[in-house]
Amino acid sequence: MRTTVLHNCQLVDGRNTGIQSNVDIIVVGSTIREISPTSTTETYSGVDEIISVDGNLVTPGLINNHTHGTAFGPLFPSGHEALPHSQILQNLDTHLQEGTTTVLCVDGFVTADALAATNQSHPLQVSLASCNTPACLEAATLADGGGLSDENIAFSATDAIGAGAVALGEIGAGHTLGGGGASYMYIPMEVRRRTGVTITSKQADKLKIAVLGRHISASSFDHDAVEESIVDANLAGKLSVDEAKEIVSDIVLPAFDVALYGLTEAAGQAQQSGVPVLVHNAAASMTQVADIARREVTVIAGHSNHNSFDLREGLEHAERLKEHGVIVDVSTLDTFGAQLITSGPDLLFAMFDQGLVDTISTDYAGGHHDSILLVIDRAVKAGVVSLPAAIAMASANVADAIPGLAPNRGRVVPGGCADMVITRADALDDVQAVIVNGTVEVRNGKRVASAA
Ligand SMILES: [Zn+2]
Repeated sequence: MRTTVLHNCQLVDGRNTGIQSNVDIIVVGSTIREISPTSTTETYSGVDEIISVDGNLVTPGLINNHTHGTAFGPLFPSGHEALPHSQILQNLDTHLQEGTTTVLCVDGFVTADALAATNQSHPLQVSLASCNTPACLEAATLADGGGLSDENIAFSATDAIGAGAVALGEIGAGHTLGGGGASYMYIPMEVRRRTGVTITSKQADKLKIAVLGRHISASSFDHDAVEESIVDANLAGKLSVDEAKEIVSDIVLPAFDVALYGLTEAAGQAQQSGVPVLVHNAAASMTQVADIARREVTVIAGHSNHNSFDLREGLEHAERLKEHGVIVDVSTLDTFGAQLITSGPDLLFAMFDQGLVDTISTDYAGGHHDSILLVIDRAVKAGVVSLPAAIAMASANVADAIPGLAPNRGRVVPGGCADMVITRADALDDVQAVIVNGTVEVRNGKRVASAA
């Protein structure tokens, strides 16, 4: 078996136990064999490869529990038309180059066969969550459903769990619950179709809130705010207040109540099946999420830093969820990069600062998510979380929260699977190398050609 030595590492091993300096990590085959104080390279004269880490940082391969567009099949829990395979493989490359070695695809309607084909095409480990419960399927069909084949529809959540799906999720979504998906996708599409004007996600979001409020309710309609949003989006004279109201309402409301009910239904099914349920946690769904938090089921509250929360509301809600043993997840979204959807890290940083965060994921953010290591870098530099704790939130904590997602992964320890990231300690998102199952898949920041 091939032996590789990672020479002279600073190690953050995923267990939130500090930083080890000057260690060598010996990998045999796909397993971490030994971690020892740094030796001279002559000690390793017989090995196949010595990777000079030179004091850079080694972490576990990251485990991301909230991704979309990472498996062949319908996109999003609204069953939207699938992305081309080439785009999905490119998305997986992006995650891999960012240091992620395992992802949970929470699109929810992908079949086991399509997942197997995905995993055959890419070294990153992809697992499935299913959202194919009766109410969630109905919500998808009402909101979109354009990408659902007969096979997708027939592949129920029960079938999916039988075939190895590790969770139910994403239950509720921005696409069925009037969240980000409505703002970055469905509302701009319909406005463009009617007026020819392209509006931004933020303009669509403002319009949506003017019509339905942050918590999504027809009674929140605010005529003046809608008028202002129309002007802001350069739609004056092209769209009346009534038309704007109709567009937003027709996109968001038909699926909304059934999608909300889907949260309760899926929690019951997850409880019966003994798998966690990963839910869309946002202002619009917070009451139902708080409700299922009381049940005897592992609830993962996805993207609990959702931009629909105001700061105090988001913090208090997360506190209450934690009291009930909910796993509070935060997503990187596009907090620091594109900022097409989110605007700044206030809630995210406050959640770190108050010790409310269990796991860190990316979510999709309209295809512009920030890397997990970038967000950890910024949060550590801002002093709101320690590096070992933050790395654990993106590795061991995730593996522990979802049994079966990443067995024997998430910790750099002897006997563990050799999924590791080598990155710069002073710029964590500057990933140098990524090792999956003992094989170097990213070198010098670039994906190794897959021909080998
Ligand atoms: Zn979501």
